[in-house]
Amino acid sequence: MRKEFGVYLHVPFCLSKCPYCDFCSFPGSTEKTRAHYVGALIREIGERDFPRRTATSVFFGGGTPTLLSVPQFDALFSMIDARFGLARDAEITFEMNPATADRGKLRAFRALGFNRVSIGCQSVSDDELRALGRVHSANEIFQAYEDALAAGFDNVNVDLMYGVPGQTVGSFSKTLQTVISLSPAHISAYGLILEEGTPFFTRRNELALPDEDVEADMYALATSVLRDAGYRHYEISNYARPGRECRHNLLYWRQGEYAAYGVSASSHIAGVRRTNTRDLARYLSDPVRATDEETVIEDPEYEYIMLRLRLAEGIDEEEFRRRFGRAFREKYADKLAPWFACGALVSDGDRTALTDEGLYLNSALLRELLP
Ligand code: SF4
Repeated sequence: MRKEFGVYLHVPFCLSKCPYCDFCSFPGSTEKTRAHYVGALIREIGERDFPRRTATSVFFGGGTPTLLSVPQFDALFSMIDARFGLARDAEITFEMNPATADRGKLRAFRALGFNRVSIGCQSVSDDELRALGRVHSANEIFQAYEDALAAGFDNVNVDLMYGVPGQTVGSFSKTLQTVISLSPAHISAYGLILEEGTPFFTRRNELALPDEDVEADMYALATSVLRDAGYRHYEISNYARPGRECRHNLLYWRQGEYAAYGVSASSHIAGVRRTNTRDLARYLSDPVRATDEETVIEDPEYEYIMLRLRLAEGIDEEEFRRRFGRAFREKYADKLAPWFACGALVSDGDRTALTDEGLYLNSALLRELLP
């Protein structure tokens, strides 16, 4: 069977900084900085000693990659193709902020070979979008979606968020129904996390955040409504039409190998994780030596459990036995017993997996399994 291999490119520029975001992204970049950055990426792709493997998925993430121009996308895309080669059926995604959508640009990206677009929507309530500090309106989301379809993209992801200040189960339900009516191939629904160091974290006591129970209700609502609409809940926060699961992200969760380029980007090759600096100036001055961390994965068993329990497919008991000596459900029988008893965890002997409800409690189970 052909082995999957991914390539990730991080584009760290945004129109403005959302107050909840701790991704490596910088607002207010100039054309000159973006051109300098693209030059650095091209150098890094050309000079880093990653193995030469055919890419089965490519992902331009950020930040807001669509702040780059068509010729810049073209140059990066050609460089990746020359360096790795692209599988004929490769999944090639870019992330887009609706405020940067432009039908002409989208058509050009499609013509370059991109076949999947991920739209950062979050909510269809303008009040909630304002509360999140997003720079686009709900109407711009609908326009961006229409533009993507018109440009020939039939594999579109829409990112949603729950646990947003001022959000209610009713308003989240409206967002879900509205997005389902657009019928995208893939929907992601993430709970808002208050990350340390962000303005939201500093102001956490002033934000009208839904409480934990309401947030759990929102998760349950997403799970049931999306399932009824024909989406498979294949990862804690991800839902797809059959066959439209994100191949690139599955590679991460299945511990596949991927090369990653750009500031803060993290690659995983031959059991080693390399993470680039978050310091843009340092990256620009020497992109090939801007690695901050190089770590051998110390506890592959825990890493395997942590990633696989995010997925509805769960843990392949035969693979687990082969790699770690005993079946997962036998090795951790005592700790897993209460989880089986309450129906949060199920096993058919070949696979052990969290149920839809269990997936929401994934981090509590992982805490119990910590070595
Ligand atoms: S658009 Fe996305 S990457 Fe940029 S600041 Fe907002 S959440 Fe972060």
